[in-house]
Amino acid sequence: MTFHSLTDTYKLNNGVDIPIIGFGTWQTPNGAIAENAVLTALNNGYRHIDTAAAYGNEASVGRAIKKSGIDRHAIFVTTKLNNPDHGYRATQQAIDKSLQELGLDYIDLYLIHWPNPVMARDNWAELNAQSWRAMEEAVEAGKIRAIGVSNFRKHHLQELFKTAEIMPAINQNYLNPSDLQPDVTQYCDDLGIFNEAYSPLGTGGLLSNPMVTGVAKNHDKTPAQVLIRWSLQHGFIPLPKSVHGDYIVANTKVFDFNLTDEEMKNLDELHGSTGVATDPDKTDF
Ligand code: NAP
Repeated sequence: MTFHSLTDTYKLNNGVDIPIIGFGTWQTPNGAIAENAVLTALNNGYRHIDTAAAYGNEASVGRAIKKSGIDRHAIFVTTKLNNPDHGYRATQQAIDKSLQELGLDYIDLYLIHWPNPVMARDNWAELNAQSWRAMEEAVEAGKIRAIGVSNFRKHHLQELFKTAEIMPAINQNYLNPSDLQPDVTQYCDDLGIFNEAYSPLGTGGLLSNPMVTGVAKNHDKTPAQVLIRWSLQHGFIPLPKSVHGDYIVANTKVFDFNLTDEEMKNLDELHGSTGVATDPDKTDF
């Protein structure tokens, strides 16, 4: 696949188009910081914003979208079900709350944020099935365009498939050279579920890795640009986050170079260099 710009899209398994790079907002404080970051991203070509109820900044994301003056239909907004809200009724309420916080009529992509939160540990499969039913009904009602999951491993997906009527469109996971999670990404690829890459920069931890800085030097690029490019060349949908205007802009300049097969392979071998994905069955949240 050749990429040209931030507005290039993939087609999800339900026909909805998703821009190939999203803008991350985890740990971006609600208020002026989040609003400015998202507005800067939109003004510089991003058309895909990733937030979550748990981030507490949906309201700022919504305000930035309005302030940008960009047609709502040209922007792809993702938000996620918070861990305490698993279950049928709670999920219905959570979807309505997110719509209200965002100040939007619909959400483009709604994800179950974690498959097995502490509150659901004894009956996570049943609660995911209930949440999924509420999400399917919200699609039917026009409140959501696509639904998916996050931090799901193969066994979580297999449980979901027992009752799901709509196939997940996305699985959003910790994906960067420090953890490629080949089992789950291959499984999703085979089923036509796109892999979104959260923490594509290793939450900043990979930016000073000597292999990454070396590859960046080869191309006269920044380490962040190399990591975003690596993600794109793997077919992932990267979600880089920043609150700094210069980084936000620089992170869009990833379409004028190509990592060689050898560079991709060398980066792939950085497993564990900044840790690995959290085991979703052992979280304490
Ligand atoms: P990330 O995008 O891997 O890295 C962000 C860090 O890198 C920030 O400290 C940022 O600094 C810094 N940075 C960004 N661009 C830079 C540049 N060009 N030069 C130097 N430093 C740069 O981090 P992440 O927040 O972990 O992941 C990205 C997004 O994925 C999140 O924001 C969220 O939307 C999503 N996510 C989802 C989950 C999930 O469970 N589904 C979990 C984690 C993340 P500043 O911010 O200070 O500018």
